[in-house]
Amino acid sequence: MTESAAAHIERRRGRAVRGIEVPSHKSASTQLPLAAAPIPSEIIVPLEAGLSARDLRPAVESGQRVLRGQPLVQGGGPLSTWTHASTSGVVRSLERRRIAHPRRREALCAVIEVDGRDERWPELARPDPTQWDTPEKLAAALSRAGLEGLGGAVFPTGLKLAAAERRRMSLVIVNGVECEPYISCDDMLMRTSPRDVLAGALVLVELAGADRGVVAVEEDKPDALKALQRELPTLDTQQRLSVVSVPTMYPAGGERQLIQELTGEEVPSLAKPTDVGYLCQNVGTTAALYRYLERGEPVTSRVTTVTGGAIATPRNLEVRLGTRIADLVAACGGYTGKVARLIMGGSMMGHALENDLVAVGRPTNCIVAATAEELRDDSAAVACIRCGNCSNVCPAYLLPQELDAAAEHDEFDLLENLGLFDCIECGCCDVVCPSHIPLAETFRVAKRRLVQAMEPSARVRWLEAREQLRRQRVETWDREHGGAGGGPETQPHARRLEAVAEIVARASRAQETT
Ligand code: SF4
Ligand code: SF4
Repeated sequence: MTESAAAHIERRRGRAVRGIEVPSHKSASTQLPLAAAPIPSEIIVPLEAGLSARDLRPAVESGQRVLRGQPLVQGGGPLSTWTHASTSGVVRSLERRRIAHPRRREALCAVIEVDGRDERWPELARPDPTQWDTPEKLAAALSRAGLEGLGGAVFPTGLKLAAAERRRMSLVIVNGVECEPYISCDDMLMRTSPRDVLAGALVLVELAGADRGVVAVEEDKPDALKALQRELPTLDTQQRLSVVSVPTMYPAGGERQLIQELTGEEVPSLAKPTDVGYLCQNVGTTAALYRYLERGEPVTSRVTTVTGGAIATPRNLEVRLGTRIADLVAACGGYTGKVARLIMGGSMMGHALENDLVAVGRPTNCIVAATAEELRDDSAAVACIRCGNCSNVCPAYLLPQELDAAAEHDEFDLLENLGLFDCIECGCCDVVCPSHIPLAETFRVAKRRLVQAMEPSARVRWLEAREQLRRQRVETWDREHGGAGGGPETQPHARRLEAVAEIVARASRAQETT
């Protein structure tokens, strides 16, 4: 490692949050109100979901009629997530299909011929959280409801909550920042369903055993902020929940960046936010959690932004999972001209799709049909001129130019020491690089190679470091709460679930009276 690199790593701690200003394209898709997308004639739902789908088995067979909300799989463990029929129809086949995935994966899918009746599965019922008397039962119930991160990460929600409960959270952060320049699905969700977001946030605070929660929204979403602030007093939050705005900047919505913005604390390298007491959850997931608790509805739809210069009528639609992107685009008036690139996710961190025949899944927050003019300059990369632009903007305080050189020569130790795993692949360095070096993509690939090259002993050291952080966290929490302050140890899991049931009942009553 060069001397300057070592000095830079040392200086990273305690710096201000930073990033770049990117031109916003959000207003194109927020002119029309949120509406339901038409239910297509065919839906394609993957049966493999979650971090590991090994133990999931199909619960349906070809020719079987299914109803909206009916599970399509059975079995599985805490790492897997169930999928459900998103409308009623007949399973035409179970077959492997290409899914919307950055690595163009295939998965076993149920192809359902829709009957247009949209009949609800009669076994869906409001759950009784007090039955989930261990964190494991809670995690299993949420996985069976299809709850996983709707912000794109698709991490099983129940697993994250069980980890949060064990680690003693001080703060729940509901992330409504949505800093990607084209995406507006969370904005529209907060404008139209503020109660679901806020009540879901209260549930998270309770389940995580946290002192308080905050819903963070970027300043460029004044309507969402107003809707949340109007709704907040109608819920009995007992001062445990607030709504705050954060400055508009890319990537302010990164978990580490948001924690730093809100608390001034940096999450240590290689640690997860829950290791140091912060539970972060996307607003879509938070609302979906509340809807499941209130109505017993598993996740069978999501809000998706359809936008870009090649879309006739950009807008946000509540779309049934399994709807092909071609059908969704048709619901937005179709394409207006040549699509230079079809992107799933945002223009900064999304990935290109081969075509529009793949289906909308839980991570599909946005589809951008970009024209050539909208794409970044893709001139061939030339040699680094050591201008330092990339390191000046990197929100993780990395040295992208040094990382790039290390990646080129497979210098794995150096990559690790330079903090490769702290790279959030935001693409800020790409935007400012005058040499057009595809830095973020290089780091994406380098991470995979580094993981493969890592000695088992290095992984063990990594896990031990996280365990040490977790122990420190628990000790600090216990000290701050006097060891008997109503926290996770003294306020048992069962009591918190009773509180969750009360929150849901109160929020539900508040809705009825407004
Ligand atoms: S992609 Fe990685 S290296 Fe580049 S600016 Fe973002 S965090 Fe820094
Ligand atoms: S911005 Fe590009 S050219 Fe400038 S130092 Fe970074 S990698 Fe090199």
